[in-house]
Amino acid sequence: MTDTHAHLDRLETPEAALERARGLKAVLSLGTDAASSAAALEFAGRWPNVYAGVGLHPTEAEAFSEEVAERLRALAAHPRVRASGETGLDYYWDAAERTAQLRVLAFQLELARTRDLVMVFHVRSKEGSDAAERDLEAWLGEHRPPRFVLHAFGGDLRLAATGLELGGYVSFAGNLTYKKNAHLREAAAALPAERLLVETDSPYLPPVPKRGKKNEPVFVRYTLEALAGVRGVSFEEMERITDENARRLFRW
Ligand SMILES: [Zn+2]
Repeated sequence: MTDTHAHLDRLETPEAALERARGLKAVLSLGTDAASSAAALEFAGRWPNVYAGVGLHPTEAEAFSEEVAERLRALAAHPRVRASGETGLDYYWDAAERTAQLRVLAFQLELARTRDLVMVFHVRSKEGSDAAERDLEAWLGEHRPPRFVLHAFGGDLRLAATGLELGGYVSFAGNLTYKKNAHLREAAAALPAERLLVETDSPYLPPVPKRGKKNEPVFVRYTLEALAGVRGVSFEEMERITDENARRLFRW
């Protein structure tokens, strides 16, 4: 199993969670600012199956400065860093101006290109709106990042189609298992197998039957089970496919 998206520094007992996750092929821990990007890299230094992403989350975009950029560039030089992110567009929280978010996206693209990293995109609009998805779709078409993943896929089929056309991957999180999300399961059944990934987004989005608990990397099993179920393949086959997809994309 592979967890392609976790925030290990936000877990209450990350070392214990990683002990339980020893059997996972890989865990990618994403940074959301300079300090958490450095923390992700520290986990990667201590655990052979952990890799790091270096980035400034869109909700942190107002904190961007040349100094922050320099810190992130320095961290990204490490060989255990495989992702530029978490990055993207967030219009849900009103935490940062759109122009600030676009400036960070441009920086993360530069980082991805110079260090040959995978861009990891977060996208979230206000309830009832798809403004962030449409803006990210346009941005992707214009800038064409060489390797990228749409993380914690939320069901926007237009964005998925554009992402796939541009060579991107789509990652499913624990919300795939939520009763109300039949539309996500429909999408998961229809997308091409060779572009599918699974993740936890730990400590967020715990899958059924762990709802109400803090999520952790080993719980990726439940999302993988759900994905296998909707695609009508065995757990082992789905595991093999998603492990191989992640290995090909992140080159671990
Ligand atoms: Zn995340």
